[in-house]
Amino acid sequence: MTNPSLQILASKLVDIDAQGLRRQRWTAETACQPHLQVNGRSMLAFNSNDYLGLAAHPQVMEALKEGVSLYGAGSGASHLISGHFQSHARLEEKLAAMLSPYLVSARALYFCTGYMANLGILHALADSAQGDITVFSESLNHASLIDGIRLSRSAVQLYPHCDTQALGELLKTCTSKTKVVVTDSVFSMDGDIAPVRELLTLCEQHGAWLVVDDAHGFGVLGDTGCGILEHLQLRSPNLIYMGTLGKAAGVGGAFVAAHETFIDWMVQRSRPYIYTTAAPPALAHALLTSLRIILGEEGKARRAHLQELIQQLATAPIPQGWERLPSTTAIQPIIIGSNADVLKASAALQAQGLWITAIRSPTVPAGTARLRITLSAAHTTADVAQLIQALGSQA
Ligand SMILES: *Cc1c(COP(=O)(O)O)cnc(C)c1O
Repeated sequence: MTNPSLQILASKLVDIDAQGLRRQRWTAETACQPHLQVNGRSMLAFNSNDYLGLAAHPQVMEALKEGVSLYGAGSGASHLISGHFQSHARLEEKLAAMLSPYLVSARALYFCTGYMANLGILHALADSAQGDITVFSESLNHASLIDGIRLSRSAVQLYPHCDTQALGELLKTCTSKTKVVVTDSVFSMDGDIAPVRELLTLCEQHGAWLVVDDAHGFGVLGDTGCGILEHLQLRSPNLIYMGTLGKAAGVGGAFVAAHETFIDWMVQRSRPYIYTTAAPPALAHALLTSLRIILGEEGKARRAHLQELIQQLATAPIPQGWERLPSTTAIQPIIIGSNADVLKASAALQAQGLWITAIRSPTVPAGTARLRITLSAAHTTADVAQLIQALGSQA
């Protein structure tokens, strides 16, 4: 017996190789930190989203152990059956309190991952609109938002990157009762920040929701780390906010914060929330410690150090022919162009002990393959100096 589908897959995999698009996983043998052991080698990494260096923070690790001793290893069921624990409830209360200056009647809902939170938001909105809905999607949105829109089976209109004028025109001619604008706050592969203030003004004018995915802003942006809404000092009942907890917060999961009525609706109807086993309660317990660090003096100091590192890298020379994107965030991509060239650059940096991921299509448009360099407060200025020197030696 042979399975003919396997042959089709095998030949497609050969095509992937031929185009320089094979994706590989590396196996890390030590904790997520700048200096780590990966594939049997010591490397200096510039590719995690652990922006504040909390993934291996001793206090967060200790809190995770404490969470296990209090609540065990797993949750045992979904939130609506028996898997909702005190730590989940406390985490949601704390997150709602953090976001309450920016949202009206704020409540928060903890999800297993940001991917699922985005599916959950869009599914819940579409379920309430019964087909009379248009989603306006920023062209560089994260895959999880795009998949959420697909799952919701809503009508969708794409608007060009950060183009509020084009979006305004689209909103004007839209006759759907429910209108939803969806955007990343910090674009994950470019590092630039969406014009969220202008987007919110448009949404308020047109009675639309604004869904903001702050995966790369929560913990990092804003004076106390509450994210993009604090950074821009926005407040509105039209906002639906999604923050992830596996990036700057260093642990895992995500949350949606919005008006309590929308959160209540999600608990009733959002399938990606309802039909999955709740994340281990120990994670939520550890996250309470992450949030305490983010909100306190240490968080402030870590964000200030991260800003210094961003300045250090953003002002350093890079090889001719490479293009630095104008980012002020911890995501500092350098566009190289072809798949072959980016793989060559990434391999040359690896040979010098630097682990930087080459990002190619379909994650970014073909022809804009890039090194996605990310900085963390756990890096030292000496680490960044080593990176700058290695980049310089590629010229
Ligand atoms: C990482 C990311 C997500 C998904 O979050 P996970 O918790 O990793 O599933 C969603 N949106 C954006 C913009 C992201 O970068």
